[in-house]
Amino acid sequence: MTVRTRIAPSPTGDPHVGTAYIALFNLCFARQHGGQFILRIEDTDRVRSTPESEQMILDSLRWLGLDWDEGPDVGGPHGPYRQSERGDIYAQYARQLIDAGHAFKCFRTSEELDELRESRKAAGMHLALKPADLALPAEEQARREREEWPYVVRMQVPASGTCVVSDMLRGSIEVDWAQVDAQVLLKSDGMPTYHLANVVDDHLMGITHVLRGEEWINSAPKHQLLYDYFGWQMPELCHMPLLRNPDKSKLSKRKNPTSINYYRRMGYLPQAVTNYLGRMGWSMPDEREKFSLDEMMAHFDVQRVSLGGPVFDLDKLTWLNGLYIREDLDEQAFLKALMEWAFNEEYVKQILPQVRPRVETLSDVMPLAGHFFSGLPAIEEQSFDAVKLGREDLVKLLQFLVWRLETLPAWNKPALLDEVKTLSGHFDLKMKDFLAPVFIAVTGSSASTSVMDAMAILGSDMTRARLRHAIAVLGGVSKKQAKRFEKEYREL
Ligand code: GLU
Repeated sequence: MTVRTRIAPSPTGDPHVGTAYIALFNLCFARQHGGQFILRIEDTDRVRSTPESEQMILDSLRWLGLDWDEGPDVGGPHGPYRQSERGDIYAQYARQLIDAGHAFKCFRTSEELDELRESRKAAGMHLALKPADLALPAEEQARREREEWPYVVRMQVPASGTCVVSDMLRGSIEVDWAQVDAQVLLKSDGMPTYHLANVVDDHLMGITHVLRGEEWINSAPKHQLLYDYFGWQMPELCHMPLLRNPDKSKLSKRKNPTSINYYRRMGYLPQAVTNYLGRMGWSMPDEREKFSLDEMMAHFDVQRVSLGGPVFDLDKLTWLNGLYIREDLDEQAFLKALMEWAFNEEYVKQILPQVRPRVETLSDVMPLAGHFFSGLPAIEEQSFDAVKLGREDLVKLLQFLVWRLETLPAWNKPALLDEVKTLSGHFDLKMKDFLAPVFIAVTGSSASTSVMDAMAILGSDMTRARLRHAIAVLGGVSKKQAKRFEKEYREL
């Protein structure tokens, strides 16, 4: 048997470090067994998926050196590798399940589903909706079918008993079937859900081992059942521990930069980031902290993954990055790294239009545009002295902006402008006055290039990191303040 692993990211938003972490372990596992590593794009969520996001995922994984053997860009014998291009395949397998009685058309309306859930809640029952709850009297089912009501396809699941799923790291995981709902497999628009598409694709693509984040454990019983229904062998499952913030909460962009774009923009070296991700729950047999991807592949053993939540600690990553710069880069390599990092044509070209109208000599460029080539600006409380806002309002303004930007689906100037307009309206400030503190937080000075353009160019995580840094410099947000802010924010 040839070992085949895969990473199956959904192209929504920025490329996440968690995606790179899971990719790394799948790649090492495949290579250790002389196998193949596949990249599949799970873009069945047509509303949230974007081609830009897909491109960023490919770019950032490649930047980290995590190359795949088959994928949407390189092709391969099991394509297409984008789920949005495989619609017919899923529809065919859904039909097969219906014909065999393993799945059924569900014509329930959303009001009916709400009612069903409410009544279960009132009766203190588990909220999972079982096939028996959803069933309509035969006549009604036939009528809705005849009248062509919209429907979803759901899978049959046992009403009771225990499901046992085995995991390479966790042994047997037991789940009570009563808690597992009659999962939707095909949505009313004919698109598959993650569960159907994932199982069908893993099978058709010959995947033998699935290493994925532990947040998917709850899906495993449904997947196992689908493999049974189809009569296919299920790949071995391995649920990796989730990355955590230093306070042990799940790594999230609210607290830490999670986008690979951020680490790249911040000037981390790809080999240091990949090495650091390799330290997440895993260690080399001799416990050394610094190792290359080749060394990791050579010594990889998935059984050495420890399940205690690995902490993604920026300080440690920074320390490791320093080692790489000092120990591994000679002058030539250092120069090359610098040029690739920011002094490359693509990046500088974005900045030039911001700078050219504002300079008289070339030496004016750096003082004006230095923030494009730095991390967190060197600001202090006094930097905001000229801003005519009380401390609380000032911090609130920055905090609200961070929150709005966290959920912004597309990162571009018009979208940013909309947010700024909404918020300046809320604070009853002219746009210029609203932007004054933002300007200082993002560019580090009160005279620089346009702050809206700067945000667009710097990207989401870097912009938010700078805004959060400014909030910290201004003394942070107390628990009490946070409560007040959140209440007001919710009403926005
Ligand atoms: N599309 C899922 C994700 O975004 C894949 C989960 C899996 O590996 O099964 O992570």
